[in-house]
Amino acid sequence: MDRVECVVVGAGPTGSACAIGLARKGIETVLVERGSQAGEKNVASFVLFANVLKTIIPGFADEAPLERIGSDTGFLCLRKDDMMEFRAKAGVYYENPMIYTAYRSRFDRWFASKAEEEGVEVVRGMLVTDVLTEGGRVVGIKVGEDELLADVVVAADGIHSIVARQSGLYEDDTSRYMLGVKEVLDLPPDVIEDRFGLRPGEAAVKDGWGYPMSDVGGLFTIYTNNDSVSICLFAPVDALKAKGVSLRDRLEDFKAHPYVSSLIKESRLREYEAHILADGGRIKTDRLYSGGVLLCGEAGGFNSTMWIGVPSGMLSGLKAADAVAAAKRLGRYDADALSCYVDYLYETGLPRMLYNARTFSDFMVKSARRHMETFTDNLFDFMTESILEEVNFFEPEPYPSLEKAYGMFSDYVPRWLEPPLRLLVRGVSKLGSWYKKRKIRRTV
Ligand SMILES: Cc1cc2nc3c(=O)[nH]c(=O)nc-3n(C[C@H](O)[C@H](O)[C@H](O)COP(=O)(O)OP(=O)(O)OC[C@H]3O[C@@H](n4cnc5c(N)ncnc54)[C@H](O)[C@@H]3O)c2cc1C
Repeated sequence: MDRVECVVVGAGPTGSACAIGLARKGIETVLVERGSQAGEKNVASFVLFANVLKTIIPGFADEAPLERIGSDTGFLCLRKDDMMEFRAKAGVYYENPMIYTAYRSRFDRWFASKAEEEGVEVVRGMLVTDVLTEGGRVVGIKVGEDELLADVVVAADGIHSIVARQSGLYEDDTSRYMLGVKEVLDLPPDVIEDRFGLRPGEAAVKDGWGYPMSDVGGLFTIYTNNDSVSICLFAPVDALKAKGVSLRDRLEDFKAHPYVSSLIKESRLREYEAHILADGGRIKTDRLYSGGVLLCGEAGGFNSTMWIGVPSGMLSGLKAADAVAAAKRLGRYDADALSCYVDYLYETGLPRMLYNARTFSDFMVKSARRHMETFTDNLFDFMTESILEEVNFFEPEPYPSLEKAYGMFSDYVPRWLEPPLRLLVRGVSKLGSWYKKRKIRRTV
């Protein structure tokens, strides 16, 4: 039976980053990928936050297959026929890019080839079916009937991680699962630049909430590649199931919204994909390792609040490589030796990201999903009425905007607290009105 120092399962961004880290530390590494090419099994396009990649391959922008520079970013809120947008165009990020759009199929293939250049053996078209264990610790992988022994197995095999499951580290919590659907729509580059107001080579990246996702507590993203636009809808699986909602239908509603339709009209569908993803921070740090095994990337629940998983996956992969090297120095690969992985993680912002993602996820599960619709509606009323307040000359009373603002959050207040709190807000509002009226008299 063959034996290597380290097997990394999965040649996504996490696995390749980890393999590069291991090879650079002189650790004999095999990277196993089920696809006939890295990236073959991944969602079509993505937004690459390049801060971690930059530390691995400083000159990546000259050779990686990238689409556009994401220096035009924004938040979008939709109601059936309305839209509200907060948009930022940062010249500094156009000159010194940190965000790109790219295709996973091309990017992952390129990144795995970089691991190969570092001396990693990349084995493609091989589905890992199980882990080998001995004395309660992982000692290798199984590929059907074939076996490969390793000092350490790194799980970088994504959300459904067979390695994490078979090593007993996986935590299933379906209330944290989201379904993501994505369409890539072809449009000529000059049409994209014209409609989105972009400079040549610049990408728009818009995250948003509201119509048609409010009732299921979902969100959406829209961004531009060189000659295509990606639209993506996310929603909690349990909410979709409970309400019998098809995300595919909602994608059609989204595309028919007047604003979205003005951006993507006359486009041609290139690709459609659906994928499960989980809210971040779903695995506690003391379950990210065990004897002979480490979890990183999506397999370890490394996802930010907004499901940005590529840079955090890469960084967790690098830290896993540090942990393997430290265990090698000790000459043992048991759980105790590999526990330094968590210490290495704490040298980074990853635990903070996991904490934020878990806290946000708790808030979404417990409260926000149920109240998103009211919040969005009230927000629109508040914004539009605030604009009209400027010309509300028939009304002598200063506009009670505090009460309107309270309306956006009142759903989140416990029932017993609602009446006294509403009374308090009304009182403060009246007091504010009285004070303002007095000031008006004195000033004007
Ligand atoms: C719809 C959608 C949109 C997203 N958009 C973004 C975005 O714009 N930006 C961003 O940063 N993140 C985004 N994410 C999150 C991001 O895709 C993941 O966090 C990221 O892919 C995690 O990388 P990974 O390498 O850990 O796992 P994966 O990318 O899932 O890679 C796992 C790899 O392991 C292989 N594999 C799996 N099982 C086996 C096995 N048994 N044997 C061998 N190989 C195996 C797979 O083929 C795959 O290549 C998005 C997620 C979804 C679902």
